[in-house]
Amino acid sequence: MSLAFLRWGVLILVCLIAPLATAAEAKKLRRPKAKGAKLVHVQRGERLQHAAAAAFKRMHESARTEGVSLRVTSGYRSRQEQRWLYERYRKGLGPQAARPGRSNHQRGLAVDLVVGDVSTTTYEWLASNACRFGFRRTVASEPWHWEYRPRTTRAPAKGQDCLGRDTTPDLQDTPLAKKDPS
Ligand SMILES: [Zn+2]
Repeated sequence: MSLAFLRWGVLILVCLIAPLATAAEAKKLRRPKAKGAKLVHVQRGERLQHAAAAAFKRMHESARTEGVSLRVTSGYRSRQEQRWLYERYRKGLGPQAARPGRSNHQRGLAVDLVVGDVSTTTYEWLASNACRFGFRRTVASEPWHWEYRPRTTRAPAKGQDCLGRDTTPDLQDTPLAKKDPS
């Protein structure tokens, strides 16, 4: 009898604790990770978490020198902004948007850019170069959405771009150029 009682006791405990743990997990998810992390203005009133902003600015400058303009349409979003976008999406009034708490825009790590489609010069530049700055695509259906994920974004091998294609070698880097002082 006591064994059966113990089994029921354990089962009841698990039933009581499991929802609490799930609720705690959900609360953690709801809390934007950007809280406490400094947000920095990047462009047109849009902000990113400071490390992401610094990387974006370097990427923006690099693109600019190659004649490519990176225009931001969305950076950091508050929970309220994300909820508004999500509601619009749910009602069929706006583009796809993640549920509040599930978007890296709330952490200040995601940036939406004007890319057109995947055949544009801007998109091509990003696909070839963004990984060098820690940015990569994370949503298959959203070519405009790029996230700053420096730890899991692999830099290209020497002499290659982010797509693994060979880049033109820089003459100044060749041993011949180094030996010749003129
Ligand atoms: Zn986005």
